[in-house]
Amino acid sequence: MTFRILYRGSLSSCNYGCEYCPFAKHTETAAEHQADGVALNRFVDWVATKPIAQQLGILFTPWGEALFHKRYQDAFIRLSNFAHVDKVAIQTNLATRFEWLNECDVSKVAFWATYHPTEVTQERFLAQVAQARSYGAAVSVGVVGLKEHQTEITQLRQALPDDVYMWINAYKRVENYYSPALFDRFKQIDPLFPYNTMRHPSLGQWCQAGETVVSIDGNGDMRRCHFIREPLANIYADDWQSALQPRRCTNATCGCHIGYVHMPQLQQAKIYGDQILERIPVLSKSDLPQDIPVVSQYVAND
Ligand code: SF4
Ligand code: SF4
Repeated sequence: MTFRILYRGSLSSCNYGCEYCPFAKHTETAAEHQADGVALNRFVDWVATKPIAQQLGILFTPWGEALFHKRYQDAFIRLSNFAHVDKVAIQTNLATRFEWLNECDVSKVAFWATYHPTEVTQERFLAQVAQARSYGAAVSVGVVGLKEHQTEITQLRQALPDDVYMWINAYKRVENYYSPALFDRFKQIDPLFPYNTMRHPSLGQWCQAGETVVSIDGNGDMRRCHFIREPLANIYADDWQSALQPRRCTNATCGCHIGYVHMPQLQQAKIYGDQILERIPVLSKSDLPQDIPVVSQYVAND
């Protein structure tokens, strides 16, 4: 069993300016960048000590874009070369150079790459995907399922190689946002889109968050997940592992992929296996669940 960590430091800036995003074009001071780097290095140093008996998988889930910063590329190089680390992945817009991958154990590197149609041409984004793959990195590609981008979304699926999984994140800010026709169109592209259109009832349900997967911030504070603020422990304290145990969720619902995939009742482990951090199903498209029951305020009835 791999122990999984979702790391989110203090970085909160991005080179892109997506309209719906709070980090769009936000810049940080040199001191803020330095503080994020110090915290990141401390985390990587902690991983280097092999702090837990299990193998480790790490997903960076930054507020904003981290991959074009050298400190995150260096973290990938170090982490991927540790024998006790199986996976290093990141949510990214892929606007980076990739030469640094030559110094990684690229068999462990994966990118959860999001296409932003207002920020980059499809041609440029596809070239970045192809380049990352040419180095040997695993890549999943996805988009936010905005109505106004449905043409670009369909074109992207057609242009991507068949063996690149394309996911669609549901836009969950407006009720009845998806007509049945658009919902079906996106489901044709991403058979798992129905899961993402729902806020899954989670209160009182068992969740692996806090037991086999945790969220860690730049201070080393460990939480179950990004959605429950109460810290469980601090990883820089000797007894941090004593906080790991099975727990039931204390939130009413869980609506984000990086959370609900850890609810056993949704059986996402069967779908993603050891590629859960990078959101790449291990099942072929034809073997994915076909009849996912949808109860969602974001899909109109008619
Ligand atoms: S690329 Fe991501 S982090 Fe950057 S502005 Fe767009 S949504 Fe926000
Ligand atoms: S169900 Fe979601 S919110 Fe609840 S503990 Fe798991 S990941 Fe966190």
